[in-house]
Amino acid sequence: MDISLSIYKKPLPMREKIIAGNWKMNKSFEEAEDLIYEITEGIQDMNLRDTSVILCPPFLYLEMAADAITGTRIKLGAQNLHEKDFGAYTGEISAPMLKSLDVEYCIIGHSERRKFFHETGKQLAAKVESAIRNEIHPVFCCGELLDEREKGIQNEIVKSQLEESLFFLESDDFKKVIIAYEPVWAIGTGVNATPEQAQEMHAYIRSLIQEKYGEKIAGKTTILYGGSCNAKNAASLFANPDVDGGLIGGASLDATEFLDIIKQRIQN
Ligand code: PEP
Repeated sequence: MDISLSIYKKPLPMREKIIAGNWKMNKSFEEAEDLIYEITEGIQDMNLRDTSVILCPPFLYLEMAADAITGTRIKLGAQNLHEKDFGAYTGEISAPMLKSLDVEYCIIGHSERRKFFHETGKQLAAKVESAIRNEIHPVFCCGELLDEREKGIQNEIVKSQLEESLFFLESDDFKKVIIAYEPVWAIGTGVNATPEQAQEMHAYIRSLIQEKYGEKIAGKTTILYGGSCNAKNAASLFANPDVDGGLIGGASLDATEFLDIIKQRIQN
Protein backbone atom coordinates (compact mmCIF):
# COMPACT_ATOMS: atom_id res chain seq x y z
CA MET A 1 0.00 0.00 0.00
CA ASP A 2 1.25 3.51 -0.80
CA ILE A 3 1.36 5.20 2.58
CA SER A 4 2.85 8.47 1.40
CA LEU A 5 -0.64 9.85 0.90
CA SER A 6 -3.61 9.77 3.20
CA ILE A 7 -5.37 6.43 3.16
CA TYR A 8 -8.57 8.37 2.60
CA LYS A 9 -10.04 9.61 -0.61
CA LYS A 10 -11.62 13.03 -0.20
CA PRO A 11 -13.51 14.25 1.78
CA LEU A 12 -11.53 13.58 4.95
CA PRO A 13 -13.59 12.58 7.96
CA MET A 14 -13.77 15.37 10.51
CA ARG A 15 -11.40 15.02 13.41
CA GLU A 16 -10.23 17.33 16.13
CA LYS A 17 -7.20 19.48 15.35
CA ILE A 18 -5.01 20.09 18.37
CA ILE A 19 -2.08 22.24 19.36
CA ALA A 20 -0.73 21.08 22.71
CA GLY A 21 2.08 22.73 24.66
CA ASN A 22 4.37 20.50 26.72
CA TRP A 23 6.18 22.82 29.10
CA LYS A 24 8.23 19.98 30.60
CA MET A 25 10.15 21.06 33.74
CA ASN A 26 10.32 24.76 32.89
CA LYS A 27 9.16 28.12 34.27
CA SER A 28 8.86 29.55 37.76
CA PHE A 29 5.34 29.94 39.14
CA GLU A 30 5.29 33.63 38.19
CA GLU A 31 6.61 32.95 34.71
CA ALA A 32 3.98 30.27 34.25
CA GLU A 33 1.24 32.69 35.29
CA ASP A 34 2.53 35.25 32.80
CA LEU A 35 2.72 32.71 30.00
CA ILE A 36 -0.83 31.48 30.55
CA TYR A 37 -2.07 35.05 30.73
CA GLU A 38 -0.37 35.93 27.44
CA ILE A 39 -1.74 32.82 25.72
CA THR A 40 -5.30 33.34 26.97
CA GLU A 41 -5.13 37.00 25.89
CA GLY A 42 -3.71 35.98 22.52
CA ILE A 43 -6.38 33.46 21.62
CA GLN A 44 -9.24 35.67 22.77
CA ASP A 45 -9.68 37.24 19.36
CA MET A 46 -8.80 34.14 17.34
CA ASN A 47 -11.46 32.08 15.64
CA LEU A 48 -10.12 28.68 16.68
CA ARG A 49 -12.71 26.83 14.56
CA ASP A 50 -11.99 23.09 14.93
CA THR A 51 -8.64 23.60 16.69
CA SER A 52 -8.29 22.82 20.38
CA VAL A 53 -5.48 24.28 22.46
CA ILE A 54 -4.13 22.23 25.33
CA LEU A 55 -1.58 23.40 27.88
CA CYS A 56 0.46 20.85 29.83
CA PRO A 57 2.28 22.74 32.59
CA PRO A 58 4.17 21.05 35.43
CA PHE A 59 1.92 19.39 38.05
CA LEU A 60 2.56 22.19 40.57
CA TYR A 61 0.95 24.78 38.31
CA LEU A 62 -2.14 22.82 37.28
CA GLU A 63 -4.45 24.37 39.86
CA MET A 64 -3.37 27.90 38.97
CA ALA A 65 -3.68 27.04 35.28
CA ALA A 66 -7.15 25.55 35.75
CA ASP A 67 -8.30 28.87 37.28
CA ALA A 68 -6.55 30.97 34.65
CA ILE A 69 -8.16 29.20 31.70
CA THR A 70 -11.69 29.20 33.11
CA GLY A 71 -14.03 30.65 30.52
CA THR A 72 -11.48 30.33 27.71
CA ARG A 73 -11.26 27.61 25.05
CA ILE A 74 -7.95 26.35 26.42
CA LYS A 75 -7.95 22.87 27.92
CA LEU A 76 -5.68 21.46 30.57
CA GLY A 77 -3.30 18.54 30.27
CA ALA A 78 -0.74 16.90 32.56
CA GLN A 79 2.66 15.54 31.55
CA ASN A 80 2.47 12.21 33.36
CA LEU A 81 0.43 10.16 35.81
CA HIS A 82 0.93 7.14 38.00
CA GLU A 83 -0.93 4.04 36.91
CA LYS A 84 -2.43 3.36 40.34
CA ASP A 85 -5.34 5.48 41.58
CA PHE A 86 -3.92 5.96 45.11
CA GLY A 87 -1.57 4.40 47.62
CA ALA A 88 1.97 4.35 48.96
CA TYR A 89 3.77 5.76 45.92
CA THR A 90 5.72 8.67 47.37
CA GLY A 91 6.04 11.63 45.07
CA GLU A 92 3.59 10.37 42.47
CA ILE A 93 0.38 11.88 41.08
CA SER A 94 -2.62 9.77 40.05
CA ALA A 95 -5.32 10.14 37.43
CA PRO A 96 -8.11 10.79 40.00
CA MET A 97 -5.98 13.62 41.45
CA LEU A 98 -5.60 15.14 38.01
CA LYS A 99 -9.29 14.73 37.31
CA SER A 100 -10.12 16.62 40.52
CA LEU A 101 -8.29 19.62 39.02
CA ASP A 102 -10.25 19.42 35.75
CA VAL A 103 -7.35 17.97 33.81
CA GLU A 104 -8.76 16.53 30.59
CA TYR A 105 -5.60 15.20 28.89
CA CYS A 106 -2.38 13.54 29.92
CA ILE A 107 0.80 12.96 27.94
CA ILE A 108 1.77 9.30 28.27
CA GLY A 109 4.88 7.64 26.91
CA HIS A 110 6.95 10.72 26.16
CA SER A 111 10.41 9.63 25.07
CA GLU A 112 11.95 11.50 28.01
CA ARG A 113 9.92 9.34 30.38
CA ARG A 114 10.88 6.22 28.48
CA LYS A 115 14.55 7.21 28.55
CA PHE A 116 15.13 8.88 31.93
CA PHE A 117 12.48 7.07 33.98
CA HIS A 118 12.72 3.72 32.20
CA GLU A 119 9.00 3.51 31.53
CA THR A 120 8.21 0.32 29.67
CA GLY A 121 5.52 -0.41 27.11
CA LYS A 122 3.68 -2.51 29.68
CA GLN A 123 3.74 0.27 32.26
CA LEU A 124 2.56 2.75 29.64
CA ALA A 125 -0.36 0.45 28.86
CA ALA A 126 -1.30 0.57 32.56
CA LYS A 127 -1.06 4.37 32.50
CA VAL A 128 -3.26 4.55 29.41
CA GLU A 129 -5.77 2.26 31.11
CA SER A 130 -5.74 4.42 34.25
CA ALA A 131 -6.26 7.62 32.25
CA ILE A 132 -9.21 6.16 30.37
CA ARG A 133 -10.75 4.72 33.55
CA ASN A 134 -10.60 8.21 35.04
CA GLU A 135 -11.95 9.96 31.96
CA ILE A 136 -8.70 11.59 30.96
CA HIS A 137 -7.65 11.50 27.30
CA PRO A 138 -4.21 9.95 26.85
CA VAL A 139 -1.92 11.85 24.48
CA PHE A 140 0.15 8.80 23.66
CA CYS A 141 3.66 9.47 22.32
CA CYS A 142 5.45 7.11 20.00
CA GLY A 143 8.52 7.46 17.82
CA GLU A 144 11.81 5.96 16.84
CA LEU A 145 15.41 6.73 17.86
CA LEU A 146 17.87 8.12 15.32
CA ASP A 147 19.67 4.82 14.80
CA GLU A 148 16.34 3.08 14.29
CA ARG A 149 15.48 5.54 11.51
CA GLU A 150 18.94 5.12 10.04
CA LYS A 151 18.35 1.37 9.94
CA GLY A 152 14.98 1.98 8.28
CA ILE A 153 13.03 0.20 11.02
CA GLN A 154 10.97 3.20 12.19
CA ASN A 155 7.67 1.63 11.13
CA GLU A 156 8.34 -1.56 13.08
CA ILE A 157 9.30 0.44 16.17
CA VAL A 158 6.20 2.61 16.12
CA LYS A 159 3.99 -0.37 15.36
CA SER A 160 5.33 -2.28 18.36
CA GLN A 161 4.87 0.77 20.63
CA LEU A 162 1.24 1.08 19.58
CA GLU A 163 0.60 -2.65 19.83
CA GLU A 164 2.13 -2.91 23.27
CA SER A 165 0.59 0.13 24.96
CA LEU A 166 -2.59 1.06 23.05
CA PHE A 167 -4.04 -1.69 20.93
CA PHE A 168 -5.31 -3.66 23.93
CA LEU A 169 -8.07 -1.06 24.24
CA GLU A 170 -11.63 -1.77 23.17
CA SER A 171 -12.87 0.44 20.33
CA ASP A 172 -14.93 2.73 22.56
CA ASP A 173 -11.90 3.45 24.72
CA PHE A 174 -9.48 3.78 21.84
CA LYS A 175 -11.68 6.60 20.51
CA LYS A 176 -10.58 8.69 23.51
CA VAL A 177 -6.89 8.47 22.63
CA ILE A 178 -4.80 11.10 20.85
CA ILE A 179 -1.56 9.94 19.29
CA ALA A 180 1.59 12.04 19.04
CA TYR A 181 4.25 10.87 16.63
CA GLU A 182 7.48 12.21 18.06
CA PRO A 183 10.65 10.96 16.40
CA VAL A 184 13.14 11.02 19.27
CA TRP A 185 15.89 12.47 17.06
CA ALA A 186 13.70 15.52 16.45
CA ILE A 187 12.82 16.31 20.06
CA GLY A 188 14.61 19.40 21.31
CA THR A 189 17.27 19.10 18.61
CA GLY A 190 16.16 21.80 16.18
CA VAL A 191 15.96 19.11 13.48
CA ASN A 192 12.32 18.46 12.68
CA ALA A 193 11.02 15.60 10.58
CA THR A 194 10.43 16.76 7.04
CA PRO A 195 6.77 17.21 6.12
CA GLU A 196 7.14 14.11 3.92
CA GLN A 197 8.58 12.01 6.76
CA ALA A 198 5.83 13.19 9.10
CA GLN A 199 3.05 12.49 6.59
CA GLU A 200 4.45 9.09 5.75
CA MET A 201 4.53 8.00 9.38
CA HIS A 202 1.16 9.55 10.24
CA ALA A 203 -0.47 7.78 7.30
CA TYR A 204 1.21 4.54 8.40
CA ILE A 205 -0.09 4.98 11.97
CA ARG A 206 -3.56 5.65 10.61
CA SER A 207 -3.36 2.52 8.48
CA LEU A 208 -2.49 0.48 11.60
CA ILE A 209 -5.46 1.95 13.43
CA GLN A 210 -7.65 1.13 10.46
CA GLU A 211 -6.48 -2.49 10.48
CA LYS A 212 -7.17 -2.81 14.19
CA TYR A 213 -10.26 -0.62 14.73
CA GLY A 214 -11.69 0.02 11.26
CA GLU A 215 -11.89 2.94 8.89
CA LYS A 216 -14.31 5.09 10.85
CA ILE A 217 -12.23 5.17 14.04
CA ALA A 218 -8.99 5.59 12.06
CA GLY A 219 -10.50 8.56 10.29
CA LYS A 220 -11.45 10.22 13.54
CA THR A 221 -8.21 9.65 15.45
CA THR A 222 -6.17 12.80 15.97
CA ILE A 223 -2.48 12.25 15.23
CA LEU A 224 -0.14 15.06 16.29
CA TYR A 225 3.42 15.66 15.20
CA GLY A 226 6.06 16.57 17.79
CA GLY A 227 9.75 17.32 17.47
CA SER A 228 11.26 20.78 16.95
CA CYS A 229 8.00 22.10 15.56
CA ASN A 230 8.03 25.89 15.54
CA ALA A 231 6.34 28.88 13.93
CA LYS A 232 8.57 28.58 10.86
CA ASN A 233 7.99 24.91 10.00
CA ALA A 234 4.47 24.43 11.42
CA ALA A 235 2.62 25.40 8.24
CA SER A 236 4.43 22.87 6.05
CA LEU A 237 3.94 20.10 8.63
CA PHE A 238 0.24 20.88 9.20
CA ALA A 239 -0.45 21.07 5.46
CA ASN A 240 -0.32 17.26 5.32
CA PRO A 241 -3.63 15.39 5.35
CA ASP A 242 -2.72 13.06 8.23
CA VAL A 243 -0.97 15.64 10.45
CA ASP A 244 -3.72 16.95 12.69
CA GLY A 245 -1.67 19.32 14.80
CA GLY A 246 1.33 19.42 17.04
CA LEU A 247 2.70 18.54 20.43
CA ILE A 248 5.01 21.47 20.98
CA GLY A 249 7.86 21.48 23.48
CA GLY A 250 10.40 24.32 23.40
CA ALA A 251 8.32 26.58 21.17
CA SER A 252 5.38 26.42 23.60
CA LEU A 253 7.39 28.31 26.22
CA ASP A 254 7.14 31.55 24.31
CA ALA A 255 3.62 32.96 23.95
CA THR A 256 4.22 34.75 20.64
CA GLU A 257 5.73 31.65 19.02
CA PHE A 258 3.05 29.33 20.42
CA LEU A 259 0.25 31.64 19.29
CA ASP A 260 1.83 31.76 15.85
CA ILE A 261 1.82 27.94 15.69
CA ILE A 262 -1.87 27.92 16.65
CA LYS A 263 -2.54 30.37 13.80
CA GLN A 264 -0.75 28.06 11.35
CA ARG A 265 -2.97 25.19 12.46
CA ILE A 266 -6.14 27.27 12.02
CA GLN A 267 -5.09 28.39 8.56
CA ASN A 268 -4.14 24.94 7.26
C1 PEP B 1 8.25 17.32 23.11
O1 PEP B 1 9.04 17.21 24.03
O2 PEP B 1 7.15 16.76 23.14
C2 PEP B 1 8.65 18.12 21.97
C3 PEP B 1 8.00 17.99 20.86
O3 PEP B 1 9.75 18.94 22.18
P1 PEP B 1 10.34 20.01 21.16
O4 PEP B 1 9.19 20.70 20.49
O5 PEP B 1 11.13 20.95 22.02
O6 PEP B 1 11.18 19.27 20.19
